[in-house]
Amino acid sequence: MSQAPYNYRNTLSVLRQIEEKCGRSPGEVKLLVVSKTMPPEVLKELYDECGIREFGENREPELAMKTAVLPEDIVWHFIGPLQSNKVRKVVKMASVIHSVSSVPLIERIERIAQEEGRTPEFLLEVNVSGEASKGGFSPDELFNAADVAKSCVNARWRGLMTMAPLDADDDTLEEIFCTLAKLKDQCEERCQITLPELSMGMSGDFPIAVSQEATIVRIGSRIFEGVEKITAVR
Ligand SMILES: *Cc1c(COP(=O)(O)O)cnc(C)c1O
Repeated sequence: MSQAPYNYRNTLSVLRQIEEKCGRSPGEVKLLVVSKTMPPEVLKELYDECGIREFGENREPELAMKTAVLPEDIVWHFIGPLQSNKVRKVVKMASVIHSVSSVPLIERIERIAQEEGRTPEFLLEVNVSGEASKGGFSPDELFNAADVAKSCVNARWRGLMTMAPLDADDDTLEEIFCTLAKLKDQCEERCQITLPELSMGMSGDFPIAVSQEATIVRIGSRIFEGVEKITAVR
């Protein structure tokens, strides 16, 4: 067996300690296992040993390969850049899409969800830091997108997601996560809806995200340390 089950349990216990330290309720923050580039056998270990039933993937071909060989009761989260020509496949496989980053994409997901009889949840990705290399709405564009997102009936808008820069210091990270939390409050106010999810925080920065109201942290490398990657699936 790999180290992944051990690392998962360790990560979960660290997360629970941080929740407590931050005054969050125990179990309030979901630990989403990001399984991209990892072999299906290791996901199956986590499924069997730790009862994991949700995984995050960032590429459609790899998600398709894994859904084909792993148990059907797994709930898949799509967390990567989503090309419009992949929307149908992703809507058929994933229950939650974290990385919705344009208005046409929202409209396409809604239309295809209806055609396929699916009710995916989705989050709007926000590029809080303004890095040119990152996808996501700018805070300025977000409210226009929010008006489109709230009108969806098949696809269900559940909140916001962001990725912080990998090299940011702790103060900058805190500011980015705090900004996303405020943007969620503003969307709720503007659209008169409840958005339960804030997907933010990865292996290197999840403690700060939890201190700023994250409800889902997306963790990969901390759990899969030492596991050999698969060759890219096409
Ligand atoms: C890879 C990835 C993660 C996990 O990052 P780690 O640093 O490996 O924990 C989280 N979110 C997204 C969108 C990713 O692509």
